[in-house]
Amino acid sequence: MNSQKIEPAKILLAKNIKPTPIRLKVLETLLSQTHAMRLYDIENILDGVERTSIFRAIKNFEKNNLVHEIDDGSGATKFALCEDRCECNLEDLHVHFFCKICEQTFCLQQLQIPSMELPPEFVVESANFVIKGICANCNT
Ligand SMILES: [Zn+2]
Ligand SMILES: [Zn+2]
Repeated sequence: MNSQKIEPAKILLAKNIKPTPIRLKVLETLLSQTHAMRLYDIENILDGVERTSIFRAIKNFEKNNLVHEIDDGSGATKFALCEDRCECNLEDLHVHFFCKICEQTFCLQQLQIPSMELPPEFVVESANFVIKGICANCNT
């Protein structure tokens, strides 16, 4: 567990999410990891909690800008916590890093996706910027 204790209930309330026991458990699980998680990973940690309940909690977090979805090309959608002030606008998007050894995906919050000038009539709705390589944990 994290040494500097962040209160999960407060995090939920700050995003106008009602702290239910399931939501708290899902949030605690996400807080305990440094990498993005698949639904399956969360389900494995929260043994005994139904997948649909976890999925509903995640979808609620997503709607309230607490969690963002990542498509890293691995075939499984992953979820990671957003930063405090994130509103999940295009300006909030950051680069993700996929490690080919441990197959984990990390948020590189400090690296923003550069804004790009699109050809006329093209409207951007979302963007996915994934860098692949070897993560810090595997590179030792
Ligand atoms: Zn790795
Ligand atoms: Zn991210």
